[in-house]
Amino acid sequence: MKNRIRDIQTAYQLRRDRARYDQERRQNEIYDKVPQIRAIDEEIARTGLKLSKLVLYGHVDPEKAIRDLEEAMKKLKNERAFLMTEHNFPLDYAEMKYTCPLCSDTGHLPNGQLCKCYRQQLIEHAYDMSNLKSVLSRENFSAFDFSLFSDEPFKNETLTPRDNMKEILSISEGFVHEFGKKYDNLLFYGATGLGKTFLCHAIAKALLDKGHTVIYQTAFGLIKLLEKYTFGEAGRSEAAEAYQMLFESDLLIIDDLGTEMVNTFTNTEIFNLINTRLLRQKPMILSTNLTPVQLRETYSERVASRLFGEFRFLYFYGKDLRWEV
Ligand SMILES: [Zn+2]
Repeated sequence: MKNRIRDIQTAYQLRRDRARYDQERRQNEIYDKVPQIRAIDEEIARTGLKLSKLVLYGHVDPEKAIRDLEEAMKKLKNERAFLMTEHNFPLDYAEMKYTCPLCSDTGHLPNGQLCKCYRQQLIEHAYDMSNLKSVLSRENFSAFDFSLFSDEPFKNETLTPRDNMKEILSISEGFVHEFGKKYDNLLFYGATGLGKTFLCHAIAKALLDKGHTVIYQTAFGLIKLLEKYTFGEAGRSEAAEAYQMLFESDLLIIDDLGTEMVNTFTNTEIFNLINTRLLRQKPMILSTNLTPVQLRETYSERVASRLFGEFRFLYFYGKDLRWEV
């Protein structure tokens, strides 16, 4: 994220340089065409200087002196406006034109807060980093369709698949709503094709739009990244930022846990990642097709104890939606 912030700041510097350059170019265009305006601008600058000196150092009759100078200033400006119009220049032609007039392309408002344009940049960068940019336009909470879920009882479950999904969706929306206020980790489990990935995406989108950094990785992609970071030579520096974001992002989503090759290396790395985030109280969402029993069998005791101790398990059940038309 640090590199990203530096990139954004460089972009803002370029915008300001560009605005300044364009302003000088327009001003010179005016002066070339109407030299009289240059003389007036110089006179306006001198008058302004006199005014500020008066205010600073006092005067025998400051009020009258100020009134006189203000009168002179008004005349100069009128004359300038007349000449500008006569030569078909818009009145504000020589003024600075920033991409964002709110913050003059500094990214900060006069009160020190981040400008909304800067926040937007951060969100866009967060989207780029999230690995989700392309899918998120389609999958979000509002696109969720409960009618896909059966309203008939399912096996021994008390809730129908539809009511269960309503419950899970409400918990997920609560997770988004309380994000940053209440610390929580979710674990979605159940067979494929029941909306786990969809919900991961929807939560990611909602949080990215609120300005949080979210990293989404499939377990398979995660292991590839960890391997590249640990063993890769050439790709190491690119992998470094992505690696860092696994630990530092506001939310980490690991989808399809259990589909990766599980061995001592992956077990150690996954434990390190999950445990570090837990210690830092940084939320995670995991999804898996494995049952709780299979999770215990697949992962080391250390990993399993963190999952069972620190995550809220949500069970997705019903018929596979991808087979229903
Ligand atoms: Zn701005």
